[in-house]
Amino acid sequence: MTDKTGTVYLIGAGPGDPGLLTIKAKECIETADVVVYDYLASPFLLNYARSDAQIIYVGKKGGDHTLSQDKINLLLVDKAKQGFDVARLKGGDPFVFGRGGEEAQMLLSHGVSYEVVPGVTSAIAAPAYAGIPITHRDHTSFVSFITGHEDPTKKDTSMQWDVYAKSNATLVFLMGVKNLENIVKNLIKHGKPSDTPIALVRWGTTARQKTVTGTLETIVERVKQAKLKSPAIIVIGHVVSLREELAWFDKRPLFGKRIVITRARAQASDLVSKLSKLGAQCIEIPTIQIVPPEDTAPLKKSIENITDYDWLVFTSVNGVKFFFDVLFDMGHDVRVLGHLKFACIGPVTKERLKSYGILSDILPKTYRAESVIEAFSTVEIKDKKILLPRAKQARTILPEELTKMGAQVDDVVAYETQLNSDGKKELISLLDDNEIDAITFTSSSTVSNFMSLLESKDAKKLLKNVVTASIGPITSDTARSLDIEPDIEAKEYTIQGLVNSLLAYYEGK
Ligand code: SAH
Repeated sequence: MTDKTGTVYLIGAGPGDPGLLTIKAKECIETADVVVYDYLASPFLLNYARSDAQIIYVGKKGGDHTLSQDKINLLLVDKAKQGFDVARLKGGDPFVFGRGGEEAQMLLSHGVSYEVVPGVTSAIAAPAYAGIPITHRDHTSFVSFITGHEDPTKKDTSMQWDVYAKSNATLVFLMGVKNLENIVKNLIKHGKPSDTPIALVRWGTTARQKTVTGTLETIVERVKQAKLKSPAIIVIGHVVSLREELAWFDKRPLFGKRIVITRARAQASDLVSKLSKLGAQCIEIPTIQIVPPEDTAPLKKSIENITDYDWLVFTSVNGVKFFFDVLFDMGHDVRVLGHLKFACIGPVTKERLKSYGILSDILPKTYRAESVIEAFSTVEIKDKKILLPRAKQARTILPEELTKMGAQVDDVVAYETQLNSDGKKELISLLDDNEIDAITFTSSSTVSNFMSLLESKDAKKLLKNVVTASIGPITSDTARSLDIEPDIEAKEYTIQGLVNSLLAYYEGK
């Protein structure tokens, strides 16, 4: 508590795609003490909030008002009066059918200062993502944004159906899905040609976007058939016909595919961003968490004796990260490694090492024996001492091969992987409801942990309509040993390789 009154920021959170948040909005979320959001604002944006910020959901979906508008208003005033800066996130733009005006008036009347951060409104963005420009010189010279929510039995209506029907404006209705039949009827009744193009865009700008098009005559039936529900934007006018030519968002190769990511959350972002860019909806259900080893003594001892070693071999990004964490913790820096030669398995591991300022001398492409032998064949490792900091549960093939080549190998634990079962309930219910198109497995432990999340459930049955994608032969073998035959196996055993193979699979369909 302070004696200053906080400021309330009425923030447009954009239409759904987190990339459509403004820089100013992001800054407000990052600094706010309290973040208040409702169901149209993407929960992803909460990741920008301070870890100690208070996050409050105020709902408001159709009928299920979690908090009434009055209570939301009181909440904003209350928090500001307690001295907190409040980020009030509203879907789209706060002043476009967002009751932002009312909230501002109310704040003013309570002497609470406020600022408005405009956002990208769904009224423009949802059509744009459906390939519909709401103005176009050849088709229309103006646009109307109209509420589709007005009670049709209301006596002194503000709806000017004759004006809408006679103008050549693009008409954009918000909150109109339930009222669609009524809207269409009124327009036709007041003289709008029944072959006027119309589109509904649901959950625009998100991976769940769905568009239904037709004419005033056919749309009600089509929407019924498609079972399209709120929230959707309704666009009416000749510009809608441009979608046929200009659609882009829903043409991306993985559009609409719901893909489960099983790798540890800290490592998932690369895969998530690559798949999202191709249009997929990524569902993160991490089956693994990566933690420091229970006993760090062996790794510490190796680092103490680092001058004894000739080679340092890393098999994963985690190995690199945890090795350097301990090295730095012990008060050293990279100069103590100056005498060593380095090998990294896989290009991503190599890149991670490079981020510490160290280039890898050799680069076996995979764990396979041939690959390791081939890479080390150009250097002399007989009688050399090799330090191998890696996962506790790691496979034995690498130390075995290196030992066979005459090296002395110290295999030390740099990190451990543990089962993460936080997403178990969500996973099972999504599978039960057929809400998953594909599952990605990026290591053997993602497969085995995934299977333990399913427990005694009939995995075969649950995965019947699900495409399983494995990052490489070792992961695939683990899957087979658990009675899952992967539908896809990456040709190059990297995240990019996995993405390429998923793409090839769906493009071939
Ligand atoms: N202030 C918001 C609108 C709030 S009114 C804005 O500027 O976007 C709520 C209506 O907005 C919904 O009924 C729906 O018509 C529309 N809407 C919001 N987000 C949407 C989205 N992602 N896709 C389609 N329509 C959306």
